[in-house]
Amino acid sequence: MSSSTTTTSPSTAGTLAAGTVLQGVPAVAGVQYAPVIRPGSRPRLDADAPAPDVAEADRPAEAARFTAAAGAVAARLRDRAALATGAASEVLAATATLAQDRAWIGAAEKRIGGGAPAVTAVIGAVDQFVTMFTQLGGLMAERVTDLRDIRDRVIAELTGLPEPGVPVPDVPSILCAEDLAPVDTAGLDASLVVALATTLGGPTSHTAIIARQLGIPCVVAVDGLDAVPVGTMVAVDGTLGTVTVSPDPQTAAAAVAGSQRDADLANQWTGPGATADGQVVAILANVQDGAAARAAAETPAEGVGLFRTELCFLNRDTEPTVDEQAAIYAEVLNAFPGRKVVVRTLDAGSDKPLKFAGHPDEANPALGVRGIRIADGNLGILTRQLEAIAQAAEATGTSPWVMAPMIATPAEAAHFAGHVRAVGLTPGVMIEVPAAALLADRILDHVDFLSIGTNDLTQYTMAADRMSAELATLTDPWQPAVLSLVATAAKAGAAVGKPVGVCGEAAADPVLACVLVGLGVSSLSAAAAAVAAVGARLGRVTLEQCRAAAEAALTTASAADARAAAMTALE
Ligand code: PEP
Ligand code: MG
Repeated sequence: MSSSTTTTSPSTAGTLAAGTVLQGVPAVAGVQYAPVIRPGSRPRLDADAPAPDVAEADRPAEAARFTAAAGAVAARLRDRAALATGAASEVLAATATLAQDRAWIGAAEKRIGGGAPAVTAVIGAVDQFVTMFTQLGGLMAERVTDLRDIRDRVIAELTGLPEPGVPVPDVPSILCAEDLAPVDTAGLDASLVVALATTLGGPTSHTAIIARQLGIPCVVAVDGLDAVPVGTMVAVDGTLGTVTVSPDPQTAAAAVAGSQRDADLANQWTGPGATADGQVVAILANVQDGAAARAAAETPAEGVGLFRTELCFLNRDTEPTVDEQAAIYAEVLNAFPGRKVVVRTLDAGSDKPLKFAGHPDEANPALGVRGIRIADGNLGILTRQLEAIAQAAEATGTSPWVMAPMIATPAEAAHFAGHVRAVGLTPGVMIEVPAAALLADRILDHVDFLSIGTNDLTQYTMAADRMSAELATLTDPWQPAVLSLVATAAKAGAAVGKPVGVCGEAAADPVLACVLVGLGVSSLSAAAAAVAAVGARLGRVTLEQCRAAAEAALTTASAADARAAAMTALE
């Protein structure tokens, strides 16, 4: 499915136009086309509904009723864990443990002791822990879904309702949900549930883990998915991270067949990255912490092209110490010993504010003090991070490259490079601002490499917020204006023999990846889930074909035409 298909606002339930493309985060590659199913309804919760206090004499019995319900839920989960295998079994067992966790059980018992009926106590206790987990962020926040699932199961048990869960469909279907708890997804039959899509969840959520294990395409954090009614035919593209509502059936069927063929070829691809005629193009992974780097090391990724360090600290109130930072960075460096790892300094601000960065109140934060601009008012935040990266490099015996986000001028590049060289590391910058792409040749006077961030480069070139679903046709990296800026930067690198990579989502689209190579890009860095598909596609075309596709795309006037022209040239 092309991300350049017409996109309209997904905000109105039941009135989504045929062909509407909902954008999410790619989790597991592949395309499937089937009707939507959704998990069975969960109990309606209203913690504030008036519920008379339980009489003091009845409270021990109410507490016992609650304990028995939680115990029954945990026992059922343990039984299912025993029947399942692999990751499905592990997540079921982990959820069973959480169902019996003393912390929330104790909080609920305390509320019952104070007079609350068991259902109200369960809602209140779980809410309390959901708030805490959400504040902790990261992996803890992703466990919130599990906790809510336990709450719903315990309440169903307490009120005599059927256990919430996924229906068993009659025909192969696509399971769409706000988020999926492990028990919803564990034990799924991959021949009946052929893809997953969720409104919430991250790439490391249980939904993604189980989808990967089942080998079915998965997209998470899909904006507007809740508005897609049960029974609607949708196409899920786990490589591009899209859900297309009521697509043209023939186009969708062709996309599924193509994806099956590509999947077979991707499964056989082991790297290293090169075109069919031997042009070397490193295929790297984008990661956000040690766990993601270790997962990426299981794929044919040759290294890390983008380590988004700010994502390690989104929930920190205070700046992590140099030692703390060094330990986190070392985890990523250790996942790829002797390989290329590109560490990006904190890209704080806009959609990724860091509490300790001291962001000013701004009307327009995407155009404000973000990325490298933070260092203007707080140089220490940059120098301490560079010290930590150098410390991690020394501890792991590696030589990471280090790049700055949001560079706009050669002077900023020179300033950054000076600090990076001072700690003995290799400096580069991201090309995300059109001004930087246009002056890439002058920026390369100061740094050793460039990495093009097509997400922001597209946002700033098209003056369209990358978070906006309404503007998705503008925020499409196939836009010829964006490709033209990529060409300018790549040409500048080639002229002086310095590497120019792409680390935005454009590099995760196998066809666009070929075009980027044709434009002169020397490495591609994408979500780990996309690495094999990109490498395999590139390995089937020659450099000459890539160049022809790039040339054809550059002469078009729209993203859709650019993609069509490139596809023709690559066939
Ligand atoms: C980009 O802008 O393309 C990029 C890789 O950076 P981020 O998505 O983290 O802003
Ligand atoms: Mg960016």
